[in-house]
Amino acid sequence: MIYDAVIVGAGPNGLAAAITLARAGKSVLVLEAKETIGGGTRSAELTLPGFVHDICSALHPLGVASPFFRDLPLAHYGLEWVFPPASLAHPLDDDTAVLVEGSVDATAANLGPDAARYRRLMGPLVAGWQGLLGDLLGPLRIPRHPMVMARFGLAALLPAATLARLAFRGDRARAVFAGMASHAMMPLSTPATAAFGLVLGLVAHAVGWPIARGGSQRIADALGAHLRSLRGEIVTGHPVRSRADLPDARAILFDTSPRQLVQVVGKELPAGYRQALSRFRYGPGVFKADYALDGPIPWRAEECLRAGTVHLGGTLEEIAAAEAAIWRGEHPEWPFVLVAQQSLFDPARAPQSRHTAWAYCHVPHGSAEDVTGRLEAQIERFAPGFQDRILARRTHTAADMEVYNPNYIGGDINAGVQDLRQLFTRPVVRLNPYTTPVRGLYLCSSSTPPGGGVHGLCGYYAGRTALQRLR
Ligand SMILES: Cc1cc2nc3c(=O)[nH]c(=O)nc-3n(C[C@H](O)[C@H](O)[C@H](O)COP(=O)(O)OP(=O)(O)OC[C@H]3O[C@@H](n4cnc5c(N)ncnc54)[C@H](O)[C@@H]3O)c2cc1C
Repeated sequence: MIYDAVIVGAGPNGLAAAITLARAGKSVLVLEAKETIGGGTRSAELTLPGFVHDICSALHPLGVASPFFRDLPLAHYGLEWVFPPASLAHPLDDDTAVLVEGSVDATAANLGPDAARYRRLMGPLVAGWQGLLGDLLGPLRIPRHPMVMARFGLAALLPAATLARLAFRGDRARAVFAGMASHAMMPLSTPATAAFGLVLGLVAHAVGWPIARGGSQRIADALGAHLRSLRGEIVTGHPVRSRADLPDARAILFDTSPRQLVQVVGKELPAGYRQALSRFRYGPGVFKADYALDGPIPWRAEECLRAGTVHLGGTLEEIAAAEAAIWRGEHPEWPFVLVAQQSLFDPARAPQSRHTAWAYCHVPHGSAEDVTGRLEAQIERFAPGFQDRILARRTHTAADMEVYNPNYIGGDINAGVQDLRQLFTRPVVRLNPYTTPVRGLYLCSSSTPPGGGVHGLCGYYAGRTALQRLR
């Protein structure tokens, strides 16, 4: 049999590409190297029996906002988003925390002298969020909503530290904005890092930052079940190392990094394209820690218990210094740490009265250093007694992350730096970045626009491209 399309990799983007093609009636086969589907959206009992941990993604602002996911019957296939009362808490050394609530006004009320400024910055963006995200989360094109895009672009193109200092006067607003912008995994002095803070802030207000009930694996399982209902096939335990591992197909889509594309079909690619791919830049890595706890995290600022995500790093200046150090190849003494506390809102993640915690911090590209001590010192700073609650922990260095999933080169969870040069033109500058110069070969992973995160949009746009050429 000749398939219309074979997809290499069952991450959210591979599954999204497969669904896009199968919905149009095409015959589709997904080949996944591991024994389970999901890529960066898997869960497992990593520590003790009964404790379900999200191995990679935990928080899904982009998943719930994704126009593609919103269009799929994922709830029918068991996906339920759980929305903590507040998306984010950012504790400070005065034993208080800034909470990013659903309402812009309620959040602004937390920001003292910056309340009105916060409302002026976020209010208009939140009002036009659907159009704005529709324009932003995809390949470069003429915006359909130019007014809101222009308003966003003026602020978004600035370095996050500059926007935080221009827009706000107080430490609280500056700190919470710096934490959100640090998801960029770039120094906060880099142009357009403000975009990450603005997008994550506006999604917190527009829809929230949910977790998936039962674990992030449920996202992959729902995508997989929907694909099978469309007669798509999935084969696990099937690593694709060369052409010989691929059945005949009219289109092949790689949910992999460009590096693996070259490993598998490099001989077929023109030398110029291969060279362009080799210039694609990968960013810093993450050091990941999962915890089984005998109680909730003992935050000094108790209001942190209302949030699914907690950002630890203190002030704008401290966070900016930590992120800059990583790009110099250093492991900062006080890294910026992201914490998720899923079991507070999804009790089935842990045995009764026990809890899970998920945390990571940024580290230099390829780092094999165990920074458990620094990461936990940052948690202890805001939650003294945290270490006494640990029943078991499991850690992964950035180098381990690449072994776990070869898409995370050097531990880079976005599969490529997401700066202005690479955000819309990833992995190379081409009219259609999902295509390669070889007819029938495509990339559909987060190394294509709009980049990292569990949203399926790279796969959706790649699938649409392949579909147009299959007709
Ligand atoms: C620690 C961590 C935390 C994260 N947190 C979040 C978060 O909270 N929210 C969020 O939205 N995103 C988060 N992410 C990022 C998110 O997981 C990724 O951006 C997303 O999974 C990318 O999807 P993808 O389909 O492009 O690739 P992947 O999810 O990486 O999937 C690729 C798949 O292809 C398979 N594969 C690779 N090579 C081959 C081969 N040769 N043959 C067969 N199969 C192959 C892999 O096994 C994998 O299953 C996090 C990532 C990590 C690592």
